[in-house]
Amino acid sequence: MGLFSGRKTVYVDSDVLVIGGGMAGCGATYESRFWGRDKKVVVVEKANIERSGAVAQGLYAINCYMGMQWDENQPEDHVRYARNDLMGLVREDLGYDIARHVDATVHMFEEWGLPIMKDPKTGRYQREGKWQIMIHGESYKPIVAEAARKAATKVYNRIMVTHLLMDKTKPNRVAGAVGFNVRSGEFYVFRAKAVIVAAGGASHIFKPRSVGEGMGRTWYAPWSSASAYALPILVGAKMTQMENRIVLTRFKDGYGPVGAYFLHLKTYTENAYGKEYESTWYENTKELVGDYVDRQPVPTCLRNHAFLEEVKAGRGPIRMVTKEAFQDPHLETIGWENFLGMTVGQAVVWAAQNIDPKQTNPELTTSEPYVMGSHATCAGAWASGPEDYAPDDYQWGYNRMMTVEGLFGAGDTIGGTAHKFSSGSFAEGRIAGKAAVKYVNDLGTDEPQVSEEEYENLRKVVFQPLENYKVGSNEIVAGTVSPSYLLPLHGLQRLEKIMDEYVGGISAHYTTNEPLLTRGLELLAMLKEDLNHLGAEDLHQLQRAWELQHRVLASESVTHHTMFRTETRWPGYYYRGDHMKLDDNDWHCFTLSRYDRQSDKWEMEKAPVYHIVD
Ligand SMILES: Cc1cc2nc3c(=O)[nH]c(=O)nc-3n(C[C@H](O)[C@H](O)[C@H](O)COP(=O)(O)OP(=O)(O)OC[C@H]3O[C@@H](n4cnc5c(N)ncnc54)[C@H](O)[C@@H]3O)c2cc1C
Repeated sequence: MGLFSGRKTVYVDSDVLVIGGGMAGCGATYESRFWGRDKKVVVVEKANIERSGAVAQGLYAINCYMGMQWDENQPEDHVRYARNDLMGLVREDLGYDIARHVDATVHMFEEWGLPIMKDPKTGRYQREGKWQIMIHGESYKPIVAEAARKAATKVYNRIMVTHLLMDKTKPNRVAGAVGFNVRSGEFYVFRAKAVIVAAGGASHIFKPRSVGEGMGRTWYAPWSSASAYALPILVGAKMTQMENRIVLTRFKDGYGPVGAYFLHLKTYTENAYGKEYESTWYENTKELVGDYVDRQPVPTCLRNHAFLEEVKAGRGPIRMVTKEAFQDPHLETIGWENFLGMTVGQAVVWAAQNIDPKQTNPELTTSEPYVMGSHATCAGAWASGPEDYAPDDYQWGYNRMMTVEGLFGAGDTIGGTAHKFSSGSFAEGRIAGKAAVKYVNDLGTDEPQVSEEEYENLRKVVFQPLENYKVGSNEIVAGTVSPSYLLPLHGLQRLEKIMDEYVGGISAHYTTNEPLLTRGLELLAMLKEDLNHLGAEDLHQLQRAWELQHRVLASESVTHHTMFRTETRWPGYYYRGDHMKLDDNDWHCFTLSRYDRQSDKWEMEKAPVYHIVD
């Protein structure tokens, strides 16, 4: 008991609590302050917002910019684009809402000092593609974080949030969150009137291609640990499209991005024998998905599908033809700079493997699947839409509020809205911040109350892995093996193996079926039992333990959703081997889930897809 009683508890009160200080969290903080001058706006971040989240290392392009000031695109065009890419299924109300606000967000970034490249002929932002503009973005995150720091009442860095707190007077209303300082070990109780979850997406759900010493090298940030999903799931918020994991075609071993190569350098791919291969798989793809294969641009998943089939046919590896473009010194510079501002590791990998893209066409690969809501994918929480645009079925309260009262989300957290990227996530954070302040104002004196019993119980639960380790380490049989506890790394590897083999990871060629999913759920249930015996040697391992807990719950959600949707909607992302075709009659809909933590049961249902834009 000494472990629990000696630990200090810090209490923090706020009007709006923002969990996660990445792109969406910074946007939420900035806008909460704008609308709530007198409000207490608190940010809690497990790293340091200066360099946290998926944009930590910088970016080379802002992937979501309409260019309405030059009539380049309109919000409706972006909705059509995202809908097409996601094989018909997006929340058009939410997507439209982001698209109509995203340009203003980008203009603010420029005002705050982000260098955006200009086309010397037109004076407009330099386009990389229809939606992308090019930036010198090494300092993108510090620039955005500065705005959030100035707007926040206080930023609490190095605190990992483990659970949300619920109101003791109203069962479906949020009242705050708890977590611990990953450096000092203090326990934090955040009491809040509104909570905005902006905790990023999820890597290390499925086994990565790089294992052992290279396991930290994933495409999505290795520290994106599914808190964005687990926190709302645990308190009963509905989730949507969690089956819609994303697989990326990237440069092999370094996960270097290919967008600038395709769009700006005009490079193209070929098989091992120097042949174009996408057209070879046209008929096969049409068989599976019908007319969706004829859409322009070809949906991301279908391009993956052709790649995967070509490799399975024995004509891999697929290579990016860089030798031609790299003869032009300007394009060569762009090619390298693209990595230096965003994925330095790819340049290092090429150097280490003697690959000079001027002389050798580098190999591409398809990544392990990731779960997230802001890229060419849309897993996440089911949120209420904008008052002026959302159909009635999508509106039950404040914009971006989940199905739990007072609980908002943005960025990777929110489902159904693909292709928001860094700028759209920040813009969505702003939308959520504005709505959260309105919610707080409307509460009046009806404020949520946290229950002391609830947070005192959680305090024991949160630090239990330290206790398990302290007791169990006396029984170590060899090396790190103890009969009494499971280390976070071992638990993570077990999770990744289950998801990989049963839920459609790389070793299963992204394929699963009902018997596999059934067994996967059984194995996940056994893993969940063992998580009660996680052992953490120190605070760093305690953080790993809670990241694992969050990943496991999100994985369970992914598995239930994948089981529920009995079709293959996104070949190239995953395949239901027992339902290989897209089925618009039965499945042109969203999948929704709700977890009940008392019974440990999941309920699944369908929700309609409304096409608001023609
Ligand atoms: C490799 C890569 C390349 C990309 N390329 C581009 C590009 O070229 N252009 C573009 O526009 N976009 C790009 N994106 C997408 C962009 O980075 C994301 O859309 C955006 O960062 C999502 O914002 P977010 O706030 O939801 O998540 P993040 O920005 O990842 O922020 C989440 C934050 O939550 C914190 N957090 C997580 N869990 C907890 C917890 N339990 N407690 C406290 N804090 C927590 C994290 O530390 C992090 O700071 C790319 C992403 C990646 C990974």
